[in-house]
Amino acid sequence: MEIKELEKVQEGSIFGTLTQLGHEQVVWCYDQATGLKAIIAIHNTVLGPALGGTRMWHYASEQEALTDVLRLSRGMTFKAAISGINLGGGKAVIMGNAKTMKTEAFLRRFGKFVNSLNGKYITAEDVNMKTVDMEYISMETKHVTGLPESMGGGGDPSPVTAYGVYLGMKAAVKKAYGSDSLANKTIGVQGVGQVGMHLVEHLVKENARVFITDISEDRVKEVAAKYGVSTVGQDKIYDLDMDIYAPCALGASINDETISRLKCRVIAGAANNQLQDEVKHGYMLVDRSITYAPDFLINAGGLMNVYHEHLGNYNRKRVLEQAETIYTTCLNTLSFAEQEKLSPQEAAIQLAEKRIQDIGRLRMSR
Ligand code: NAD
Repeated sequence: MEIKELEKVQEGSIFGTLTQLGHEQVVWCYDQATGLKAIIAIHNTVLGPALGGTRMWHYASEQEALTDVLRLSRGMTFKAAISGINLGGGKAVIMGNAKTMKTEAFLRRFGKFVNSLNGKYITAEDVNMKTVDMEYISMETKHVTGLPESMGGGGDPSPVTAYGVYLGMKAAVKKAYGSDSLANKTIGVQGVGQVGMHLVEHLVKENARVFITDISEDRVKEVAAKYGVSTVGQDKIYDLDMDIYAPCALGASINDETISRLKCRVIAGAANNQLQDEVKHGYMLVDRSITYAPDFLINAGGLMNVYHEHLGNYNRKRVLEQAETIYTTCLNTLSFAEQEKLSPQEAAIQLAEKRIQDIGRLRMSR
């Protein structure tokens, strides 16, 4: 559903939106003393507790924050389900300025709210929330992942996410070109933050021709110099003569305006919610013969990383092995989409929903 449409439904009725998107519970958290304003959304817990990171953002309105948390938590449900992970989908957003508001008391108060859900929701890092913040949250709840390795956690999940995106990209390339080799393919990477940078490393090793862009000029210079890759302007990336477009910045970069400009045959990147409207834009890509690797499927490496931390026997080698399954899952999903004449995004959602139904039925029969 497009963001504007979702906001329209919300204006009418929040319960209407929850019914439409299928959420189980939404918790509003407020603490006058620290100024904490947060929303925790639990989308689905059929497969297990709802795990998803906490995002801190200067939202323009409460409605914007609610829209974000509802969309993101739903995406987490599908991500876990299609990846064969026994977790449900949830997410939290904190409204405010991450640079000035994140005191120890503020974070611990948020930890108490997470704890009040008794493990139904498990948190982790997301935008503007770092490992050190998880340490404060962990002082008030054990339902937190993304802790540093020194505390038995899995550390930074970005290298695992990038590895999964790389393998998902190769699967999509196999579908589009018949071979999964990235050698001499021109690839535009939008956003070279934690995941984008590690992705560039994999692409360069495979002799791809890589172009990068980022809103941070310093970051572009740093990554271009480190890996010897070319650069492209922030808006020019959509017009680049490229084989593969890899969105690794923010969501909604695939929309009415950009689809008509894209000349690539494959889209595969790390960003969440890449399609501004997951139905309309998913099918527009099919019409243009662009193979789209569903975002929540190929960026699941980070979730796999925290899942193993949650299981309590963290082992990076095992996590990377699980991330390798992304290649086959992506290839199978693209074949299913073709057979059923679905967009890859819809096909991935159907496969995720099927697993939730099948395992849900199994649990009921115990
Ligand atoms: P990050 O914040 O480290 O990097 C994002 C980069 O994108 C930054 O360098 C930023 O300057 C740049 N950027 C922002 N807007 C841009 C624009 N319009 N054009 C070009 N560059 C722009 O984040 P990350 O951890 O690398 O994550 C990247 C994306 O992948 C995010 O959407 C995130 O939600 C998603 N993701 C990350 C993980 C993970 O393990 N970190 C897991 C799953 C999904």
